[in-house]
Amino acid sequence: MILDCAIIGGGPAGLTAGLYTTRGGLENVTMFEKGMPGGQITSSSEIENYPGVTGEISGMDLMMPWPEQCQRFGLKHEMVEVLRVSKDGDIFKIHKGDGTISEAHSVIIGTGSSPRRAGFAGEDELFGRGVSTCATCDGFFYKGKEVAVIGGGDTALEEALYLAKICSKVYLVHRRDTFRSAPNTIERIKKAENIELVLNSVPDEVYGDNMGVTGIRVKNNNGELRDIKVPGVFTFVGNDVNNQALIQEDGSFLCDMNSAGEVIVDISMKTSVEGLYATGDMRIAAPKQVVSAAGDGAVAALQAISYVDEKLN
Ligand code: FAD
Ligand code: NAP
Repeated sequence: MILDCAIIGGGPAGLTAGLYTTRGGLENVTMFEKGMPGGQITSSSEIENYPGVTGEISGMDLMMPWPEQCQRFGLKHEMVEVLRVSKDGDIFKIHKGDGTISEAHSVIIGTGSSPRRAGFAGEDELFGRGVSTCATCDGFFYKGKEVAVIGGGDTALEEALYLAKICSKVYLVHRRDTFRSAPNTIERIKKAENIELVLNSVPDEVYGDNMGVTGIRVKNNNGELRDIKVPGVFTFVGNDVNNQALIQEDGSFLCDMNSAGEVIVDISMKTSVEGLYATGDMRIAAPKQVVSAAGDGAVAALQAISYVDEKLN
């Protein structure tokens, strides 16, 4: 059976595309998600800018009902990694990690982005043994202890605030003296009594022993080194686009991309390939928000419905 639409990725973009395609009348729609549906927001300790959702709510709690809502309208879900999406004539082929291939008339891809490594000495070796990119997942291990947070964007500041509630002290290490974060978040950081700002500084090395991290050495703009003795280091230095599923056997991309590896789309989420739509964090000029990713999913779904209707009727 050829799917009406294959949705790749089960974050806010993919799930919303699933809701709108099925509710909008497409009969055979499958969402391919390699992990649990919900996307990267499930690693966030708090989200306060999703419209209509007030009070303290974690990313996990926000996303919990989304898959069930889609399933009510008939969205099918395969838990599998998509290795490659290719196009043969006017049929898309979804090459999956289990060795099988699904076929589809249209594809909505929303594979999002993943945390970037900062690139300092010891980071890779001690990853998972004191170096982490997820405060919600690992913060509790450092209850009552001191930790360091690397980065100066929204994620670093919000997660530093979260960690400051669990840990005795948070060292916020940032390479400049201004932050690229929402003004109210910066205000909260400045007011937090147990957050020390370590500015104009970059990590030089994270070090440890058999048990894991024991400290981090940072270097400031004058070349001075400082040892911060902490058992936990959280890095929040941005994200890389997950575009691997669009890479073809010859190394080219299925559709046009920009130099940052983001998919070029128009305002309807159409890519350069007919019937292929890209959504959420992976597309050009993405605001990188749950609400915009969800919006993209809805826009792409409406386009896919018209495309499939025209193609099959
Ligand atoms: P993602 O959420 O990244 O979902 C992509 C999905 O695709 C993932 O589930 C992944 O497993 C799956 N996938 C990837 N590759 C494959 C493959 N090859 N095969 C199958 N499945 C695949 N936004 C806000 O609006 N407010 C906030 O407060 C906020 N806080 C954040 C805090 C943190 C810590 C982080 C990391 C992000 C935060 N964001 C926030 C940003 C928000 O999470 C993202 O903009 C949003 O999740 C993007 O949705 P998406 O569907 O495009 O991608
Ligand atoms: P980001 O905005 O790209 O910020 C990355 C931070 O890490 C920057 O401060 C950067 O420094 C620093 N950095 C980058 N590489 C580094 C390195 N090698 N060593 C040390 N520091 C390094 O990433 P993000 O904070 O993850 O946010 C990603 C997107 O998601 C943004 O668009 C953001 O607005 C959005 N987001 C939104 C919310 C929200 O709305 N509440 C929450 C989280 C994320 P410089 O500043 O010097 O470049």
